Amino acid sequence: MKRIAILVCGKAVGNACTGSSCMKAMNCRKGTFARYESEEIELQAFFQCSGCGDDLEHNSGLQEKVERILKIDPDSVHVGVCTIEKDTKKRCAVIGKMLKIFKEHGIEVLNGTHDSELLQEVIE
Ligand code: SF4
Repeated sequence: MKRIAILVCGKAVGNACTGSSCMKAMNCRKGTFARYESEEIELQAFFQCSGCGDDLEHNSGLQEKVERILKIDPDSVHVGVCTIEKDTKKRCAVIGKMLKIFKEHGIEVLNGTHDSELLQEVIE
């Protein structure tokens, strides 16, 4: 069984996002969840940043979220397409810092949850 977490953009979640596209992709083993087609998965966390302007160095809540994820120690963190800035095609810098820490601790980071053309264009 794979233990996974999903990381999304706080701005998206605070607006129109319900997380349903991520959930549907996960439940139907589509998008980046297709790799678990014949495997059980357990969603251990669905989390988000603390919003624009709250960077990792100065936000204790965000630091705590990272620590909690490290403690849970999922096999993989799937990162929503919402964390990619549409104009620049670059990953949000706040999210990028979080991902760097996860990778340094041996947690696999996967670009995207459900399918999106933007995923093919992202500049890390
Ligand atoms: S910091 Fe990045 S991921 Fe978080 S709300 Fe702002 S744009 Fe979205």
